[in-house]
Amino acid sequence: MRLLLVEDDQMIGEAVLDLLRAENYAVDWVKDGEMADTALQSAPYDLVLLDLGLPRRDGLTVLRAMRQRKDRTPVLIATARDSVPDRIAGLDAGADDYVLKPYDLDELLARIRALLRRAAGRAEPVYEHLGVSINPVTREVQADGQPVVLSAREWAVLEPLLARPGMVLSRAQLEEKLYGWKDGISSNAVEVYVHGLRKKLGAGLIQNVRGVGYMVPRQ
Ligand code: CA
Repeated sequence: MRLLLVEDDQMIGEAVLDLLRAENYAVDWVKDGEMADTALQSAPYDLVLLDLGLPRRDGLTVLRAMRQRKDRTPVLIATARDSVPDRIAGLDAGADDYVLKPYDLDELLARIRALLRRAAGRAEPVYEHLGVSINPVTREVQADGQPVVLSAREWAVLEPLLARPGMVLSRAQLEEKLYGWKDGISSNAVEVYVHGLRKKLGAGLIQNVRGVGYMVPRQ
């Protein structure tokens, strides 16, 4: 899962960045509204954590522009605890949810997980398909009822595929889930993790779609 963090406060930004990376999200961090606009139009994100008070372009303007160009990426706005009007304006402008600043970090993570689940088109917290189940909250994985241990990067490849059976994701799309801007990409990384996943979860779970990418079959 790749997240865009839009936050101009250096200390808060660093703390949230560390937190999200420790949870194995790939995170890009930008510090003003114009950079946010640019980032949103140059890379696909699974979720945006958007501060409202920003230099150069405020968060509400960034959000309205996203929705105007039909960008439906889930947006979690960060608003001050005492500002009800900000929250209302944000939700009316197309935000999916809000968190209060200063952050309660556990609550922030829970709201991010809830939005990602909703965006994947399901309310239930566990994805189960073809005998494999994964829980995005606890990160537990089971195959035929037996626990399986995955590396963080194997998880990052499996989760988006298993969340949407039948949908093909290209190698580039899966690489986007693996890496933030600053990390190196080895050319066969996705193949390596798919190979590892097949060994742990069965050869039939992830299929190659020749010349296109990978998918978890519907049946
Ligand atoms: Ca701010």
